[in-house]
Amino acid sequence: MSEPSDLYFHQIPAGEMANFVYLVGSRETRECVLVDPAWNVAGLLDQAAADEMNVVGALVTHYHQDHVGGSVFGMEIEGLAEMMARHPVPVHVNKEEADGLRQVTGVSESDIVRREGGDTIELGAVTIRLLHTPGHTPGSQCFLVETAGGAASLVSGDTLFLGSCGRVDLPGGDPEALYHSLHDQLGKLPDETLLYPGHLYSTEPSSTLAEQKRTNPYLRVTRLEDFLGFMGY
Ligand SMILES: [Zn+2]
Repeated sequence: MSEPSDLYFHQIPAGEMANFVYLVGSRETRECVLVDPAWNVAGLLDQAAADEMNVVGALVTHYHQDHVGGSVFGMEIEGLAEMMARHPVPVHVNKEEADGLRQVTGVSESDIVRREGGDTIELGAVTIRLLHTPGHTPGSQCFLVETAGGAASLVSGDTLFLGSCGRVDLPGGDPEALYHSLHDQLGKLPDETLLYPGHLYSTEPSSTLAEQKRTNPYLRVTRLEDFLGFMGY
């Protein structure tokens, strides 16, 4: 019998653009972070409170409004501004797009922690490893959630989806960088890693990396030239 995992992990469908928000933390220390709390912030805080978890931070996969809040497509998405009003916590964002995050959300500099790839956040026996995975945006990051006695979970934002990957035709998008993020970083994680994407763009909400290496065309393609062709470049 293995020890019960310390990991607290919830995937929550949210908003009008099929986003997923995540609560990740330690059952032992009762600390958790919210990943991309763009929608229904009150509901997320209620969920954490109902689970007797203390929200100690917000993690940003990237600065698009459907992940952090702001104005887009005629919508006002509450996001981090609402989070800071209700329950201010440090906001962890990759340094490449911390300025963009401030513009989109209005979050003040004193609330922001500028992060680099390789940084870690420790919550009890749970380690969250920040992987800098540019391509969809310059400062996109994925979160590798590790705990003893279980497979790691990869919260992948808009970098890798089940069966597809993030678009690169928005400002700051870079198909070559995305290729390297997918093939040099995410594709090298262990097969048993569980993939938790930033949107529900397929029938299932999560997958193993083994399954994606076998079926996701953007991971299956090996040559950069072929990948770029696939992406329409
Ligand atoms: Zn995005």
